[in-house]
Amino acid sequence: MQKTYIMLKPDAVKRGLMGRIIGRIEDKGFKIVNAKMFTLTVAQLEEHYAHLKDKPFFKDIVEYMTSGPVLGMIVEGDDVILGMRKIMGATKWLEADAGTIRGDFACSTTQNLIHGSDSEETAEAEIKRFFGE
Ligand code: UDP
Ligand code: MG
Repeated sequence: MQKTYIMLKPDAVKRGLMGRIIGRIEDKGFKIVNAKMFTLTVAQLEEHYAHLKDKPFFKDIVEYMTSGPVLGMIVEGDDVILGMRKIMGATKWLEADAGTIRGDFACSTTQNLIHGSDSEETAEAEIKRFFGE
């Protein structure tokens, strides 16, 4: 059984969408095995989004991602890493298909509601980073 790190971003929390997004994850058949709410630090973000550090929009990401609490979760299931990426939808909201979380609830590429690990390596590193497991 595979594990992935999922994070409902500050806009999901502020907009009261946590329940509906969690419902979609559970409806799919994936299992939430750990969860906590916390506010990200800039240092955590610089590590988590290291691949974006040189982008002109990085400061906007930091401002957004530290603007309120997030819900971090460890989600378990068969092929859950790719499976979650599929139900999340594409990063850019205009490319996110209807029926996906981002496709149905987001109209911003930065404020796109949800994070999900993109490989086994990042899943392992992110679970360790945020849950110490
Ligand atoms: N992001 C953004 N503009 C972009 C690309 C990414 O604001 O052009 C933000 C967006 O919130 C995205 C996050 O940076 O979810 C991480 O980017 P990544 O490419 O890793 O996309 P994801 O894995 O979240 O789909
Ligand atoms: Mg990513």
